Amino acid sequence: MTRSRGAPVERLSPKEMLARLVAFDTTSARSNLALIDFVRDHLSALGIESRLTFDEQGTKANLYANLGPGDAGGVVLSGHTDVVPVVGQPWSGDPFSLSERDGRLYGRGSADMKGFIALVLALVPEMRSAGLKRPLHIALSYDEELGCLGAPRMIADIAANLPRPAIVIVGEPTRLKLAHRHKGCYGYDLEVRGRDGHSSATHRGVNAISHAAASVVFLDGLADRFRREGPFDHGFDPPYTTLNVGRIEGGSAVNIIPRHCRIGFEFRPIPGVDPQAVIGEIERYIVEELNPLLSASAPEARAELRARCTVPPLTARSPSPAADLVRRLTGANEAVGIAFATEAGQFQEIGIDAVVCGPGSIEQAHQPDEFIELSQLAEGEAFLRRLIAWAAD
Ligand SMILES: [Zn+2]
Repeated sequence: MTRSRGAPVERLSPKEMLARLVAFDTTSARSNLALIDFVRDHLSALGIESRLTFDEQGTKANLYANLGPGDAGGVVLSGHTDVVPVVGQPWSGDPFSLSERDGRLYGRGSADMKGFIALVLALVPEMRSAGLKRPLHIALSYDEELGCLGAPRMIADIAANLPRPAIVIVGEPTRLKLAHRHKGCYGYDLEVRGRDGHSSATHRGVNAISHAAASVVFLDGLADRFRREGPFDHGFDPPYTTLNVGRIEGGSAVNIIPRHCRIGFEFRPIPGVDPQAVIGEIERYIVEELNPLLSASAPEARAELRARCTVPPLTARSPSPAADLVRRLTGANEAVGIAFATEAGQFQEIGIDAVVCGPGSIEQAHQPDEFIELSQLAEGEAFLRRLIAWAAD
């Protein structure tokens, strides 16, 4: 739907806006373009241009929009548009139709994190009329729930082509507490290719499952070392870098030597641990131990590591204009670490000061009957109003 210029602009309350956003089924496996089109039209009716960056297939997009002066500096309000699946979850109503009960708004994404996006979009008219002296930016991403896969394209576009913002607030649900630290998340697939053959002639084949199993033992050894030796950061539970092998697939029958095996694993480094050093150690194992063993048995046999997702840890910075601003807007001094990885680590990686602060609770995220309290939505609205006043001051 495209509105012609001069048509009356539809004003939606945060609750109405949230109902619109929840109604788009933006489960990560699906396209988010219907939601992005809706937001682009909404902004365009208010005279604001959107900049889109697409995934390789052109079926998903990030949206970035600038309000106020087009200068460097200012604040990015960042949120992801995708949600986790509802399949197999016992919902008491339609997850994609917002419903209100007992001071709560129920719907997939209400807390994580369409509630925050709805607030930002509903307040755009106020941002427009406030006479902003510092720019505000809206940044909406895709595929966050798959490992923050979408935002890097938008962040690269900002870094290469746009005035650099000073501060990013990622509105993931923290009950509007300032979160200035989180662990990172690095996901990988290790593909092992061997040589197939009849199970009675094991000397002619190369068993991909057995070699993959050896690499699982190596990875578990790394995980054990992190657990025993640290480094430790007691702001997190557990207080060390974790590594988990979460998937294995290979082989077709017990009487065939398996040619292929894939394992999926991830590690979550605490701030201060150099992820490249961890990856380097894994790569060294593959190059110096696993691959020589494989290629000695068959020239075509080899193992390969493929990155699936890369989310750097969010490290507390000092000084931090982002943390200072959020402290000022919330009136609270405390800052917390959070257990989940967010796009804030990716913004920080290119040198933009980033923190996490948004309405709702992560405890409701990804759950059946996900909800956000109306009181959290109201607090979030007040938070953004103070931000607008600050930007106009
Ligand atoms: Zn989220």
